[in-house]
Amino acid sequence: MFNIEKIREDFPILKREVHGKPLVYFDNGATSQTPQVVIDAIVDYYSNYNANIHRGVHTLSQEATDKYEEARIKVQKHFNAKNSYEIILTAGTTHSINIVASGYASILKEGDEVLVSALEHHSNIVPWQMLCEKVGAVLKVIPMDNDGALKMDAFHELLNSNTKLVFCNHVSNALGTINPIKEIIDAAHKVGAKVLIDGAQACPHIKPDVQELDVDYYVASAHKMCGPTGVGLLYGKEELLNELPPYQGGGEMIETVTFEKTTYAGLPHKFEAGTPNICGGIAFGVAIDYMNSIGFDAIAKQENELLEYGTQELEKIEGLKIYGTSHKTSVISFNIEGVHPYDVGTILDKLGIAVRTGHHCAQPIMDFFCIPGTIRASFAFYNTKEEIDQLVGAVKKAQMMLV
Ligand SMILES: *Cc1c(COP(=O)(O)O)cnc(C)c1O
Repeated sequence: MFNIEKIREDFPILKREVHGKPLVYFDNGATSQTPQVVIDAIVDYYSNYNANIHRGVHTLSQEATDKYEEARIKVQKHFNAKNSYEIILTAGTTHSINIVASGYASILKEGDEVLVSALEHHSNIVPWQMLCEKVGAVLKVIPMDNDGALKMDAFHELLNSNTKLVFCNHVSNALGTINPIKEIIDAAHKVGAKVLIDGAQACPHIKPDVQELDVDYYVASAHKMCGPTGVGLLYGKEELLNELPPYQGGGEMIETVTFEKTTYAGLPHKFEAGTPNICGGIAFGVAIDYMNSIGFDAIAKQENELLEYGTQELEKIEGLKIYGTSHKTSVISFNIEGVHPYDVGTILDKLGIAVRTGHHCAQPIMDFFCIPGTIRASFAFYNTKEEIDQLVGAVKKAQMMLV
């Protein structure tokens, strides 16, 4: 049973006020809020068993190691990876992408082609640009249409025997578009290309199955799925991670070290140099348990209702335009005619409503629509229709003040 009052009780921050108004938090696409169980796990770690992992024989170190490795298994099960060592715990999506992109510098050759979608977050554009510049590979863009959907015909035409890598987000953070990643993965594999899917914006709403998708690499961040900042995952197929050179040198990622030659540790440690975010990893596992205890079907149902209701109510406002109308998650990216999104965001904040304004780290999408940015309201399962009513009222107020 989905009990919204009870769920809201799990999030202490939802009780606070901003500028004397109850907080309406609609910036879930940037980071989600943290339930008490996750906060408790963080406090428990630092209060009771804070120690470095994998190295110590003492009790605290063993307890911390066990919990950290349990968290890895929770992540493995959640994403349905075949093996726990195919889950690399990283600092987040950006870090994960950079591990793969920098590794490909020694795999790609001049003239190889890399495809990225027009809907990407900067963190999924810049590392590939840097990579292509370094090795002389060619970066090509899968275009999008006016609804914010990828042009799949164009994608199929771009694929050829030189295509070595395809990078695409599962869900666009700027528009919420859900991309047809299974079709992308299958088509890329037919020409022998590997695929990395950026799941940062999908994982708060969807439970991906990496084996069913047959995806080569899948990345996400804990902080968008009720977990802490500074931790995330890189999933990779075993044989691909074995081929990929390590990203950073240091402790933990080695097997033996002499000044003549160092041999690297096996997976996952090869990619986990140095002391990891131990507490963050453990709390990530707790966040995954929390989300599963609510259930992704219930989450999707609540969020779809919010999306439908919010779209219907916002569309009633004259001069308001919504960007991205294709199949999407609970994100409404919009503008009011004649008003800069930043000014609307500032007035909304004064009324206690947190939205994101700007280019959402996706400038190419804003260029496509010829706008400086949008106002983005992104809903989570703990949001309500009453909060949407407050947003709609506040947008009308802002319109009256600014137009
Ligand atoms: C948030 C986000 C990122 C970046 O995630 P970090 O946690 O900041 O590394 C990358 N891609 C998408 C689609 C995102 O939404």
